[in-house]
Amino acid sequence: MSNHSKYASNEPRALWMQQVLEGENGGDAPALQGDETLDVCIVGGGLTGLWTALQVKRLEPSVRVGIVEADICGSGASGANGGFAMTWWPKFGTLKKLMSTDDALRIAAASEEAVAETGRFCEANGGSGDFMASGWLWTATNTSQRASWDGVVDQLSAAGASPFRVLTRDEAFEMSGSERHLGGVFEAGVATVQPAALVRSLRRAALAAGVSIWEKTPMLSYEAGAKNVRVRVSGGTITAGHVVLATNAWLAHYPEIRRHLLVLGSDVVATESAPEKLSKVGWTPGLAISDSRRLVHYYRPTKDGRVVFGKGGGRIGFSDHMNRSTWARALRAQEVTAQFRRTYPTLESLAITNTWSGAVDYSSDSMPFFGHLGASPRVHFGAGFSGNGVGPSYLGGKILASLALERDDEWATSPMIRTPGTRLPPEPFRAIGGWAVRAALRARERSEDQEKRPSSLVRRLTQLDPTSFVG
Ligand SMILES: Cc1cc2nc3c(=O)[nH]c(=O)nc-3n(C[C@H](O)[C@H](O)[C@H](O)COP(=O)(O)OP(=O)(O)OC[C@H]3O[C@@H](n4cnc5c(N)ncnc54)[C@H](O)[C@@H]3O)c2cc1C
Repeated sequence: MSNHSKYASNEPRALWMQQVLEGENGGDAPALQGDETLDVCIVGGGLTGLWTALQVKRLEPSVRVGIVEADICGSGASGANGGFAMTWWPKFGTLKKLMSTDDALRIAAASEEAVAETGRFCEANGGSGDFMASGWLWTATNTSQRASWDGVVDQLSAAGASPFRVLTRDEAFEMSGSERHLGGVFEAGVATVQPAALVRSLRRAALAAGVSIWEKTPMLSYEAGAKNVRVRVSGGTITAGHVVLATNAWLAHYPEIRRHLLVLGSDVVATESAPEKLSKVGWTPGLAISDSRRLVHYYRPTKDGRVVFGKGGGRIGFSDHMNRSTWARALRAQEVTAQFRRTYPTLESLAITNTWSGAVDYSSDSMPFFGHLGASPRVHFGAGFSGNGVGPSYLGGKILASLALERDDEWATSPMIRTPGTRLPPEPFRAIGGWAVRAALRARERSEDQEKRPSSLVRRLTQLDPTSFVG
């Protein structure tokens, strides 16, 4: 039995969600009132929950599938993220530590296919999601970051794969329009999306496929028995054969998962729309860019000619405290804006119109993990996308669907079904340690941005950070 409580929310939404909801004429799905029986009950209507529902229906159309969502579909990270649909090629080094080289190659290739599949979904659904297959520039914005990608590129080359093209500084400038970029690698298999448009389009597709969706219907608790699971929600009870917990950062609620999960805020700013200014600086339309610092900067132009610029490694989650309105506010909006100005002084005149934040679920080894929760083989979860879930949530959906349908296929036996080896310390040590390491990371990046060497204490403290966006 597990108990949830705090789920009301009326806080302002990310720009992406505002844009999409304006065009939807209030299409909320009804809240559940009464009792229901399902074969598969999915908790959480983000990308993971929706891809899972669609995959279950694709595999077994007669199965009764329903999603309960505490707020509205897309209200979590899925409608607030940077919109980079990335692969796991930059994580090849970590994948190789977790599995054989062949499996690592297979899984990374599947993650590239997941991005392509997302593109096919968008195309088949009227060009939804503003999918742009424009690639990703992984770059350096100070000399300490130079060559950050070398290790991954070398390991890939030894394994016979070459998803990255190494760029000179001139080429990086040519592509991005910023002299701040000191070279990098380009990966063509990455795309950008309008994330809320993607997730709301998945919601429409799920409804059309016969999935029941109840919004404003938080799960309060569940009780797993031998034959089924009883899910108590705000307006009733669902009895289901299997339950999939696709609640992302809210999975920190469960001590079993929390010991491998660190929830960190990511803050985002967006500018006014000025497509002509972006094309003047020469930023390739849709090109996703990130630098190589631990508190990563990620930025991309939108289809409507804005810049969206974000920064990872912000607010640190304490225990299972996941109050929505606290997480929605971008505490570092000024700092992120300053970094945008520093990276694109040529876009100085662009006004910042929107800021927001969201919770990112970093696993203790920076790769997601899937499995059963507790002793019950009927309760499944997937957590720890570590800031790279837009593309991989499609694979998460395949794994969770196969688990919930008790299939014996490559997804139900995926090496991603695992428990991370590293355990994080309990509270309050984890939060205190997290604050100290983050302070050191901030000091380190200040020094490195000024091309100074950080002190050895700062360097040693930053090495304790278990999270990573790439590598
Ligand atoms: C600011 C930000 C920027 C990011 N940028 C990128 C990026 O550019 N590229 C990338 O790949 N990834 C990025 N990520 C990560 C990415 O957004 C996530 O990995 C991905 O969206 C996870 O999807 P999800 O469905 O698992 O989680 P979510 O979208 O968070 O969905 C979980 C859902 O569960 C619901 N829920 C929670 N508790 C309950 C309950 N008790 N009952 C019912 N429902 C519940 C929530 O309301 C939520 O809608 C970013 C994340 C953030 C926050």
